[in-house]
Amino acid sequence: MALTVLNPATEEPIAELQQAGVEETDAAVARAREAFPAWRSVAPADRARLLRRLATLVEEHGEQLAQIESQNVGKPIAGARGEVGMVAQVFHFYAGAVDKHFGETIPVAGGIAATFREALGVVGLITPWNFPLNIASWKLGPALACGNTVVLKPAELTPLSALRLGELALDAGIPEGVLNVVVGKGSVVGQRLIEHPDVAKIGFTGSTEVGQKVMQGAAGTIKRVTLELGGKSANVIFADADLERAAAAAPYSVFDNAGQDCCARSRILVERSAYDRFVGLLIESTRGVKVGDPRDGSTEMGPLISAAHRKTVASFVEGEPLFRGDAPDGKGFWFPCTLVEATNEDRVARDEVFGPVAAIIPFEGEAEAVRIANDTPYGLSGSIWTRDGAKALRVARAVESGVLSVNSNSSVRVSTPFGGFKQSGFGRELGMHALEGYSEVKSVFISTEG
Ligand code: NDP
Repeated sequence: MALTVLNPATEEPIAELQQAGVEETDAAVARAREAFPAWRSVAPADRARLLRRLATLVEEHGEQLAQIESQNVGKPIAGARGEVGMVAQVFHFYAGAVDKHFGETIPVAGGIAATFREALGVVGLITPWNFPLNIASWKLGPALACGNTVVLKPAELTPLSALRLGELALDAGIPEGVLNVVVGKGSVVGQRLIEHPDVAKIGFTGSTEVGQKVMQGAAGTIKRVTLELGGKSANVIFADADLERAAAAAPYSVFDNAGQDCCARSRILVERSAYDRFVGLLIESTRGVKVGDPRDGSTEMGPLISAAHRKTVASFVEGEPLFRGDAPDGKGFWFPCTLVEATNEDRVARDEVFGPVAAIIPFEGEAEAVRIANDTPYGLSGSIWTRDGAKALRVARAVESGVLSVNSNSSVRVSTPFGGFKQSGFGRELGMHALEGYSEVKSVFISTEG
């Protein structure tokens, strides 16, 4: 079946692809399986060299990859360039990690026990449309560094950058069969990977709903899974914070990528005594977000990914919002930056909107801030703004979330672990922690008795 890939900023087709089915998925798994023994045996320094070459090729083709990503996702080009820069850094990091992920020796009676980090085999990677190349690289880097071979299924809406990355991997000298990109429906290709007996692990990023299906499907073969799912993160603004700085930063923590970000701080919790002042500042800074043509280097927010998604996002705005920004008319799946006042019980505060809609919620004091921040099934990221260092640390320890920032809204770094608590998933991506999810620990006892 043919797949037409659209540019969400123009609604124009940008590619026609053939969709894979079960047969093609099985063929990709077979190729990955065949390539596994040789890839696992590549000397660590050589595997590192190949990953480093891939990183360099991503840098050399950075502009091309950024243009592909910008057109296919509707991302502002400046953001897309930054994301591609991170992809290169991710491969550099895991090139350096290949020979630094090692076992231990453990003193035991009668000999020595040693642990080894063994590759899993063929891993299936299922990725979403919001950060197609970045999220693929977060999984590919550690998977390949550990000696696994891969079948990567990008989201149907945004397969183009993954396909180009697959070509670059071959150009880098990574052998055929090590990285296989299969474009097709989640319910067909994704489901087949989840159930396939020769796939050892699924690395998944997407909705909590599909995450549940991954867990259920993986149970049949006791597959390893890591899940990076939705979020409903709190941006907690205490009255003693630098309110100007917090308000200037807040729009970008929820409207970046048009709010289609699992880390979006889409609940802005504001201490009552600073509420009016902060909300005034927030409206002003939100008014300044530049929405428009993703090709323009100064654009800060583009369109949503699809017409269907825009309909879902719109359903969260009931009545007149506190603030609604501007967005282009005409073609493209545009939606303006929107601020609504809410309680934590409202649907806009409970469900992941995945669009440029922020719920502003007042609170009284530290205990209530923590209670509201934690009153969600999710636990991915969040921010705490205060000038009181001890309070920042207390709240950071109390919030049930995998990634937090204090007086900042940045969650993601190449060298630090990223992942969720609660229904935001489990397992960690990035940093040395990600290697745990792509290897097994083996313990070997060596007798020293004569
Ligand atoms: P999905 O969870 O449906 O998609 C993520 C990936 O899973 C895609 O590659 C998709 O393939 C695949 N997939 C879909 N169904 C199955 C299945 N039954 N078995 C295996 N793989 C499957 O997310 P959506 O794109 O539909 O977005 C819906 C919502 O999910 C968003 O509005 C947002 O709330 C959340 N989301 C969260 C993300 C995050 O970063 N945590 C990322 C994306 C979405 P295909 O595209 O071919 O259907």
